[in-house]
Amino acid sequence: MPRLSRRSFLTASAALATRPAMSAGATPTTSVDVVIVGAGAAGIAAARRIAAAGRKFVLIDAADRVGGRCVTDTRTFDVPYDRGAHWIHAPDFNPLMKLTARRGLEVYPAPASQKVRIGRRYAREGELEDFLALQVRANRAIADAARKGDIACAQALPNDLGDWRPAIEFLLGPFGCGKNLTQVSAVDFAKSIERNTDAFCRQGLGTLLAAFAEGIPVKLSTPATAIDTRRGVLVETPSGVISAHTAVVTVSTNVLASGAIKFSPELPKRQIDALSKLSLGSYDHIALELAGNPLGFESDELVFEKSADTRTAAILANVSGTQLCVIEVAGTFGRELSAKGEAAMVNFAADWLAGLYGADVKKAIKRSHATRWNHEPRTLGAFSAAAPGGQGARRILMEPLQNAVWFAGEAVHETLWGTVGGAWESGERAADAALRRLGGGKEPPQPETTGSPARAPQRPRAGPRYQRYQ
Ligand SMILES: Cc1cc2nc3c(=O)[nH]c(=O)nc-3n(C[C@H](O)[C@H](O)[C@H](O)COP(=O)(O)OP(=O)(O)OC[C@H]3O[C@@H](n4cnc5c(N)ncnc54)[C@H](O)[C@@H]3O)c2cc1C
Repeated sequence: MPRLSRRSFLTASAALATRPAMSAGATPTTSVDVVIVGAGAAGIAAARRIAAAGRKFVLIDAADRVGGRCVTDTRTFDVPYDRGAHWIHAPDFNPLMKLTARRGLEVYPAPASQKVRIGRRYAREGELEDFLALQVRANRAIADAARKGDIACAQALPNDLGDWRPAIEFLLGPFGCGKNLTQVSAVDFAKSIERNTDAFCRQGLGTLLAAFAEGIPVKLSTPATAIDTRRGVLVETPSGVISAHTAVVTVSTNVLASGAIKFSPELPKRQIDALSKLSLGSYDHIALELAGNPLGFESDELVFEKSADTRTAAILANVSGTQLCVIEVAGTFGRELSAKGEAAMVNFAADWLAGLYGADVKKAIKRSHATRWNHEPRTLGAFSAAAPGGQGARRILMEPLQNAVWFAGEAVHETLWGTVGGAWESGERAADAALRRLGGGKEPPQPETTGSPARAPQRPRAGPRYQRYQ
């Protein structure tokens, strides 16, 4: 079966309430140097940094587990199933790789190539060449446009992508950014760092991240309901008020914009605008257990469709050699589908597979599950992609509030947005800023280059999440 045989480019507001933040007469029950809100990748990274500096901190999370959007479920299918992040992008400089060896977890390279399905057959060599060439042109066009101004990626696309256009739009938009290209800033897209190699953790990326939280005390099931920065920092939770000198807030942009945490004084308009420009896209997994490997997939095989429209998906088959196949739906279509519920999502996935491989595949489907990240109240979406004209919002979110509260998380990273690695680096950066404010922290790293080695010169690039070479 022909594969993508050379460089492939697949890798190619809120109404914030105005009531006073803190209940009158609230008495702090805990007093620390830093309070960290959210124990996902950014919060865990921040906590580790602050613990290493010997400062007193409290890490809280609304959920009853750590990991946020990076979580491995081992119960639904009896094998590791990453409900959120799964790919370890750019393992050569991904901050999560630094400690992997010591954890006894197996991290291995992702296959370097993918396939494309055209109806009931795989694409031939010449067709893949066409597809790749058009992807190069699409990426160059977006990069060129970004140098002149911040328009929508869709406006920058060449007009002559022919019948590959829907596939390229899916790849670069929903699959890469969680949003259709009409909703994605060309500058944000172009700034995101090349992710031309990937790795997987056999035990799940969520398992790997949770291992980094071992030994770090976390108060679970403890949502922050209000943050008052008028004198120091007071964080209100149902189990008491935490008093701190500084705070690192890592909840998603959609949660912040929802007003779930009341700020006092209110968040400045600048930050509110920034949150609305960095809304989360839609990206979900529809996981199917396909008994007996009826389609002859290889381990971790990634297959796209030469689709006729936006009702398409990608499949990551035989995850880490298991019978688990994950169909990825995203963007506007994915959002509409997830709104219909899990049963509709699983039906779509079964029909989509049947359309590409024949109806018999449905007989092989055993257990199934679909994530619905837009409906997870502690996240309210998948990951951020800046709206056209909105790329500057990422830097605005790096500005502290009252020199005491720093935002962190995947949205607060200019080049690794939408990734676990980006969230991790932003958490470390925010922790460093808090430590400096407390006295004794590190010198500030540059936002785009925190923790990573010097970048290779920019080459033609593709979708922010996936870009593969062979
Ligand atoms: C389906 C999907 C697939 C993805 N695939 C990949 C991938 O393959 N590779 C990759 O690198 N990235 C991927 N991502 C993106 C990646 O998961 C995120 O960028 C990253 O995990 C975000 O980490 P974070 O710390 O910024 O936020 P989160 O993980 O969202 O952490 C924030 C935490 O805050 C908590 N919280 C919310 N509200 C409150 C409150 N009021 N009080 C206290 N705590 C609160 C939440 O419970 C959560 O634990 C994917 C995401 C999704 C959804």
